Amino acid sequence: MIQAPYPELDDLLEMMGEAGKRLSEIEASEGAAGNISICLRWPIELRTRFPSVEEIELPQPVPELAGATFLVSGSGRRLREIIDEPSASIGCIVVNEGGHTGKLYLSYHRRFERVTSEFNSHLAVHYDQILSSGTNFHAVIHAQPPHLTYLSHIPRYQNEQYLNTHLMRWQPETIVNLPEGIGFVPFRIPSSPELMAGTLESLRNHRIVIWAQHGVMARSEVTVNRAADRVEYAETAAKYEYLNLSVDEVGEGLSADEIRAICNTFNVQQNIF
Ligand SMILES: [Zn+2]
Repeated sequence: MIQAPYPELDDLLEMMGEAGKRLSEIEASEGAAGNISICLRWPIELRTRFPSVEEIELPQPVPELAGATFLVSGSGRRLREIIDEPSASIGCIVVNEGGHTGKLYLSYHRRFERVTSEFNSHLAVHYDQILSSGTNFHAVIHAQPPHLTYLSHIPRYQNEQYLNTHLMRWQPETIVNLPEGIGFVPFRIPSSPELMAGTLESLRNHRIVIWAQHGVMARSEVTVNRAADRVEYAETAAKYEYLNLSVDEVGEGLSADEIRAICNTFNVQQNIF
């Protein structure tokens, strides 16, 4: 939830640009991989930056979000380039009354035709989270951090309990920042309804989920950077785990007792350890 005075369009575009740049710096968005969207529920002026308007069908009806605005990265756009020229990489969708259709606002300088093909998953997650929490702001990021993605190819890390007890053990902050741990969605075809359904379900109980053999999706109700931070925390944990695998697992990590003590001290509710 964001309190007034609300960020303006340029602030929001800058937030998306900064997150895109950071994801690129941690090598979680090679080429045109990854996508970012935000949903905001306060009125915002789009026409100055995005004067071209067309009607579009939404991937699913979202009647309760009539009037809400989505800023979404364009299909095939590079996340690292949003910061330089946001209107070339971002499209804005305002949901029409009834929630089946929307108005897509674009810049004349855009370098894409459609918003990201993963918008169905983004929209489903925004809708589900906003209905349950009532937030007026919600950010969703899909990125492809290599160490997390690599671990998702190893069968024993496809078990959520195994994954979390092994990844949460390398730094005290990891459990503090990701107290629900990392969710796991088995491999599903990109952009498919099955991937959307699995993501929606897992993000009800986690702030970040792995899309097996593909990447991650993370969310935040505060800022886009907060969602990007979650990708970075999880990827750093995976990097330690990978490092440990590469030296025959000589590291032991923090013990379950130590992690429980950290959680008691910082008042973190968790049920992994
Ligand atoms: Zn992807």
